[in-house]
Amino acid sequence: MDFASLGLSENIVKAVTEAGYTEPTAVQQAAIPAALAGKDLIVSSQTGSGKTAAFMLPSLQRLTLEPTIKARGPRVLVLTPTRELAVQVTDACKGYGKNLRYAKAVSVVGGMPYPVQNKLLSSPYEILVATPGRLMDQMNSGRIDFGRLEILILDEADRMLDMGFVDDIEAIVAKLP
Ligand code: AMP
Repeated sequence: MDFASLGLSENIVKAVTEAGYTEPTAVQQAAIPAALAGKDLIVSSQTGSGKTAAFMLPSLQRLTLEPTIKARGPRVLVLTPTRELAVQVTDACKGYGKNLRYAKAVSVVGGMPYPVQNKLLSSPYEILVATPGRLMDQMNSGRIDFGRLEILILDEADRMLDMGFVDDIEAIVAKLP
């Protein structure tokens, strides 16, 4: 099986080919067609199995379509338990989405100076990768418009729950369309 037969567009297939991937991993083969079909998924897969691309490639594919709602904020929101993971996911997005016109990824994580972060959030972007605490701060100060959000990803959801983020996650989810 190859990436094109999963239903991904040429620009995305080109980016993964350039990254040296020759075929989708097992989790990618299982998750990508279901995500492209618009299903809600719970995916359990080991570190190193290619799970970031399993959720990011179908999300990027969605960004090749015009948004149905006009708004400024993210179309894809990824929550991660740690800054380090947020940075990794943002970098992966940039790589997989490098041939797409509207797939800008920004990250909002604790420890980043607010002026830098506020500036990032004030220019147009499609993908927001965030840790729950800092995202709550930015939401409370009215800096994020979720009017056109289409996809929510909880990366390493089990770890986020272990780290005590359940209340933050519930508060965030309650404010999403
Ligand atoms: P992850 O499980 O998302 O942390 O990915 C682990 C590593 O596998 C990363 O370095 C990816 O770049 C790489 N990877 C993801 N998908 C593939 C693939 N289909 N073929 C080869 N390497 C991959």
